[in-house]
Formats: sequence, C-alpha cells, structure tokens
Amino acid sequence: MDVVTTIEQVRAAVTRARDDGARIGFVPTMGALHAGHLRLVHLAAEHADQVAVSIFVNPTQFDRPEDLDSYPRDLDADLDALAAQGAATPTVVFAPTVGQMYPRAPLTTVHVTGLTERLCGARRPGHFDGVATVVTKLFNIVRPDVAVFGRKDRQQLAVVQRLVGDLDLGVEVLGCPTVRDDDGLAVSSRNRLLDEEARREARAIPAALTAGVRAARAGRDRTHGSVIDTQRAHTAARTVLDAHPGLDVEYLEVVDPDTFAPAEPRADGTVILAVAAFVDGVRLIDNVELGFAPDEAALLDCAAPHTGVDA
Ligand code: AMP
Repeated sequence: MDVVTTIEQVRAAVTRARDDGARIGFVPTMGALHAGHLRLVHLAAEHADQVAVSIFVNPTQFDRPEDLDSYPRDLDADLDALAAQGAATPTVVFAPTVGQMYPRAPLTTVHVTGLTERLCGARRPGHFDGVATVVTKLFNIVRPDVAVFGRKDRQQLAVVQRLVGDLDLGVEVLGCPTVRDDDGLAVSSRNRLLDEEARREARAIPAALTAGVRAARAGRDRTHGSVIDTQRAHTAARTVLDAHPGLDVEYLEVVDPDTFAPAEPRADGTVILAVAAFVDGVRLIDNVELGFAPDEAALLDCAAPHTGVDA
C-alpha cells in the first residue's frame, strides 16, 4: 500500500497499475475511517483489480467553520485500518493537503441543479457544489474505472451519478448499502463526537426510520399492492422523533428517489424517507428506501432500537 500526498505521485501510481492492465476502483473519503468506509473499499475491490482510496477533509463542502474544525482526523489509524483489509487493501492511498488540492482559490466549480435544492442542499448552502467540484477533481486526478459511494449520503450519490453522466466522465458509480451498528445507528465519522447520552438520543434516528418502514409495510399489506402511504410512514417516523427532545430535527421528508422532490401522498414504487438531525451540536443524516426490500430488511434486522414511543 503506497501512501502518497501529491497529485503527481497518485497519478504515477495509478498509471503504473493501469499499464499492468488493472481496472481501477476508487473510494473517496474524508478519513476517520469506520466500517462503512471499509465496506466501500471491499465493494470497490470486488469490481476492480486495484483500488485507490483518498483521504481528504474537503473544506469547500463545509458550510459551518466549527463543523470543519471539529471534524475527526486520524490518518495513522486510517492507514492501519486500510492495511489490514487483506486482499481488499488498497494499492494506493492519496492523502493530500488542502494546499495540494487548492493551490489557489478556484474560479471553476461544478454545480448540479435540480437535485441539490432540497434536503441537505437547502440547509447547507454551497455543500453540494463543494462535493461536486472535489469529486470531479479527484476523478480527473485518479481517472478510476469504477467509484463507490455510500447510500447513507443518498443525495450525494445521486449528485455524483448525475454529474458523471452529464460531464461524460466515464466512471461507473456504485452505491453501497448503509452500514449500521448493532443498535441501528448508521456508522459515521461524526459518531465519534457523541458522548454516551447523545449516542442514546441518536438511536431515535434509525428508530424513526424503522417506524416509517413498518408503517409503510402495514399500509402496503392493506392495499395488497406496491402503493406506499407516504404520509402514514412520515407520521410514524415523526412521532418517534418528537418523543426525543434531545434531537433537533432539521428535516424529515419522504421524497422521490430520482428528483428528491416531495413524494406523492400515495406513491407507486420506491420513495426515500430521509432525516437530518442535530444531537448535541453534531449533525447526523440517515435514510431508507421504502419499498426496497434490502434497505428495509437492514433496518429491521438491527436490534430493535428503543423508540420511546408505544406502537
Ligand atoms: P465521508 O468520509 O463521510 O465523506 O464518507 C465517504 C464515503 O463513505 C461516502 O461515499 C459515504 O456515503 C460513505 N459512507 C459513510 N458512512 C457510511 C455508512 N454508514 N455506510 C455506507 N457508506 C457510508
């Protein structure tokens, strides 16, 4: 595993691999690696011969300076974790400085309209421009054949898939299912910032999604069809969140998976139930695709999170 910090070095390493005939997989991360990131690395290794991982806390996608300052960083532990992945251990890890990625203030940015006006995009001005721009830069630097992103950041995944298509970047973009701890909480670098009590409150997030899944399933059983009663799912999730005053809910929405516009009250097909909430000043997001069996099963399989609400 080569660990490099400059664009020239990572290009050279990837070129060597490609010259050997390797298909290149790529996993962009902001470090503080956890089981979710490692799942992405394994998925990349399944779809490529050699994998590159980037570790870069991209300042342009942070809308709050305190969030950037407090974002966890632990490069040594990250490298140890990657080196321990056996056959999935990446060939190269690219860990650039901010100066390496942005030697001057960029005058060019990538802006994806249509998908970014709602949910996280509406609450975090400039966030998706920062993401779209750095992902485009990283794709141009690494030139991967396939790249893997997490479905936990569902809107980000859609933005990346769209920009790759619109700009003909020629990268296959795969979405990896959300990795959860036993209590249902989606693993996240930011979970490290939660103390015990905040962590307990945070469990209400997967509990709310689970309640939404159950309500949607009950509605489907009644209609004997694929129609999802999105209002019923939303109300069930909202009831759980409302029972937890320690959560400062930013949004809870049921949206169309392609446009992120509000779903119809009775939707035929899959919809996304998405939530963002602050717990003790830490912003957490999660989502589940209602009507998509593996997503629903992953939540229902977790040790049932305590909802604090009687069913
Ligand atoms: P980040 O380091 O937070 O920018 O995340 C890097 C990649 O890991 C993104 O594609 C995320 O969607 C993905 N990711 C983060 N958390 C999870 C998770 N719990 N399960 C699956 N993928 C995740």
